[in-house]
Amino acid sequence: MKEMKAFCEECGNDVCYIVSEVQMEGELRGERYIYTGKKARCADCGAVLEPREVKAYNLRALQNIHREKNRIISLDKILEIPGKYAIGKRPLSLLLGWGEQTFSRYCEGDLPTRQYSDILIRIYEEPNYYAELLEENKDKLKTPSTYEKSRKAVDKLLGIARKGESGIDQAAVYLMEQCGDITPLALQKALYYVQGFYYAFYQEFLFLEECEAWVNGPVYREIYTRYREYCFDPMKRNSLKADADLEGGRDKKKAEFSPPFSSAEKTILDSVIRNICCYSGMVLERFTHTEMPWLVSRGNLYTAAVSSRVIPKALIGDYFSAVKQKYNMINPNDIRMYIQDMLEQI
Ligand SMILES: [Zn+2]
Repeated sequence: MKEMKAFCEECGNDVCYIVSEVQMEGELRGERYIYTGKKARCADCGAVLEPREVKAYNLRALQNIHREKNRIISLDKILEIPGKYAIGKRPLSLLLGWGEQTFSRYCEGDLPTRQYSDILIRIYEEPNYYAELLEENKDKLKTPSTYEKSRKAVDKLLGIARKGESGIDQAAVYLMEQCGDITPLALQKALYYVQGFYYAFYQEFLFLEECEAWVNGPVYREIYTRYREYCFDPMKRNSLKADADLEGGRDKKKAEFSPPFSSAEKTILDSVIRNICCYSGMVLERFTHTEMPWLVSRGNLYTAAVSSRVIPKALIGDYFSAVKQKYNMINPNDIRMYIQDMLEQI
């Protein structure tokens, strides 16, 4: 055990002291509390000492009981917030429209008011809420990189995939939600077109996952495995949504699934929903069977041959970029021109 010393007036010397737990009474913000604190006594003469560590401990203990009784956020949780959202203490104060030092003071043990505490508790518990604050108030931050860093952290907590990570689960959930009775077969095709057209318009892939050239067309195996058991049963869709929410670590208290997409991502998804998801999986399968990426990847395989050959992303990217060019597509809703043409061809 660490030897602790303090000055004893009685002994006129630095002495060792002995600490014991005692019930104490203290006042904070107009309330009196009984709490367990510490008492230090000189090891030589028994006089009561008040070393700084013991004072700090007692103040902390008093504050803790005040925090508990008034449902004020604990210091531990306050200290976790900056790390959780990858944001500095000052930027967080600015984001909240508080004095620049306010949050730093809370980190040093100052007691937040009930009102500020409620905000901090909500931030601590609801990444969604923090994400909203961050979006609404990002202008208050001094550098864009502060925003980017924090955005990345909160997205990770929300299970949102950003560029370079994968958004395929979120996309699948969104498609299922918006399309009602979409079948696993049609879902696969829709994801494939989302990937292709997103690339055509924005020169980036939305999903990291590789697509395989199965007998029935392009398939994302992870999604196939995850959702095959749900089949056509719309009754199961609610539980499916709950599962997806759970896996994404999303806040379950939010009744509505709010799509975690950028505007660019959403326009592609919505256009695919409008222009492609209205066709059956069988029709879409025939579309993909006439398209170069699937055909090239299948190569010399027999029609019914089971295969897990990957359709290279480059093929998908090139093909849909060419489609966009061929139809002079200006915005994602122009996908319908391609689909109309395909309907005439099959
Ligand atoms: Zn003494």
